Amino acid sequence: MVDMKKGLIITIDGPSGAGKSTVAKILAVRLGYRYIDTGAMYRGVAYAAMRYKMLMPEEPDFDVFLKNLRIDFDFKDKTKVFLDGEDISEEIRMPEVSMIASRLSQNKKVRDFLTRKQREIGKEGRVILEGRDTGSVVFPHADIKFYLDAKNHERAKRRFLDPSEKGIPSDIDKVREEMEIRDREDSKRDIAPLTIPQGAIYIDTTGLDIDGVVEKIMGYIRQKI
Ligand code: C5P
Repeated sequence: MVDMKKGLIITIDGPSGAGKSTVAKILAVRLGYRYIDTGAMYRGVAYAAMRYKMLMPEEPDFDVFLKNLRIDFDFKDKTKVFLDGEDISEEIRMPEVSMIASRLSQNKKVRDFLTRKQREIGKEGRVILEGRDTGSVVFPHADIKFYLDAKNHERAKRRFLDPSEKGIPSDIDKVREEMEIRDREDSKRDIAPLTIPQGAIYIDTTGLDIDGVVEKIMGYIRQKI
């Protein structure tokens, strides 16, 4: 484990399949930091909305739903999500939850609700936050920010082969199609769109293995420790 003098706030953003989660998990273990998978938090709200049939965030009912929502997170090694005390960490990986998460995450009330929680969790430092807006909106003054990217065909392949993805289509072209729709939605939304945060280090992971990416990132982090 790296000898840390001070606790940093590290952010990793980028599109799906760029390798963010895998890399963030390894880095968190190496640094002894908490890993915050913000996508899992959006998926948790999406799953809850699906269960309680609250899929119209513009409706007043949705405010009541959000206010009474009993959603909890546990960040030990992976981000676990609990709805009304029930572990829904597996269910949130279903493709329909991805699409609903992408849609609901365009809503300001949903973003404010989760951004507040993410700031609360991360403010003491010693954290790696991973998502779409962690370096641009949640912690724009993070100590170090990364943006991971990869070519579309490689990102689709990674998602296709990822064992944590549930109910993924058996056809890689379908995976790529769904991924590209979600990327478009995430990038073109008005609030907190997927973007390269100001001051972020851009890394194209196409053709790089996990160790290569981790080493590259660790090189930057060591300069800050
Ligand atoms: O990263 P993951 O694929 O689990 O995220 C699911 C969805 O949650 C994304 O497609 C995106 O719409 C939303 N999200 C977001 N902001 C984040 C993390 C995820 O809008 N920081």
